[in-house]
Amino acid sequence: MQCSKCPRNAIVFQSYSGLHLCDQHVAEDVKAKAKKMIRAHQWLRYGDHISVALSDNKSAALLYFLKQLTAERRDIRISAITINQESTGFNINSHAKRIAELLDTECFTGSSEDESVTVFDTISQKAKDPTMSVYCHPHRCLPLDKVAQQHGVTKIALGITLDDAACAVLESVIRGDVERLGFKHCVETIPRISPFISVTAAEVSLYAAHCGFKNEPAISPDLGDGLHKDTVALLDRFTNNHPATKYALMNLGKNLAGFPGGISGLIRACEWLQKKPAVVL
Ligand SMILES: [Zn+2]
Repeated sequence: MQCSKCPRNAIVFQSYSGLHLCDQHVAEDVKAKAKKMIRAHQWLRYGDHISVALSDNKSAALLYFLKQLTAERRDIRISAITINQESTGFNINSHAKRIAELLDTECFTGSSEDESVTVFDTISQKAKDPTMSVYCHPHRCLPLDKVAQQHGVTKIALGITLDDAACAVLESVIRGDVERLGFKHCVETIPRISPFISVTAAEVSLYAAHCGFKNEPAISPDLGDGLHKDTVALLDRFTNNHPATKYALMNLGKNLAGFPGGISGLIRACEWLQKKPAVVL
């Protein structure tokens, strides 16, 4: 099948737009959607230091995209952060550092076993604050914020995709717990941005491959509980017949999350990072 925009062979069919796209035009489409999201939410401001939380190939692609986008901007600094999730057995730090080196980007590192975070966990348990124990994972959120604060980061960029956002919304509805959407119960202190949130995971993966990052490894079966996995499968099946479903869910979630979190508040980094596989080069 030919690309709808040029004579090259198409590698993807966008059922929601009716377009067949080649690899170059998928990349252009991903970048256009990300730029639109950044403009709409004013995610790039004078003096910003944006650090990309490196977790998987999609976040590597996000770092690549932001580096290109700001190449002429001397007022904006782009860096990377990686937090090693000791409990998952993944050592993502070494993968992340290789990606940062490839992209000539400084990379800050932290660990989920951070001492001060253990103290925070103990405090929240002592206070018996149910919102902390149920909704937030301070041992994942706090190291990210702590490392970011140490290096003057003004925003943390996450490679969250449309699939992640739509699934988070549907899962919250199925659990009967829409309060999970938004920042209310999270300990995040530095604003999060997610430029790829209106792009499907499949298209971000194609863009990542276009940028030189290989396909994702299979996600470990241990990541996420049964309901999460069933929600992912349900959403993918349903989208086959109803292509606009993921966009509708994202918009619903944006309205439910409200301000100031809005679209950035749909998914907390602490939950999202837990479900990510390691980066492969
Ligand atoms: Zn094309």
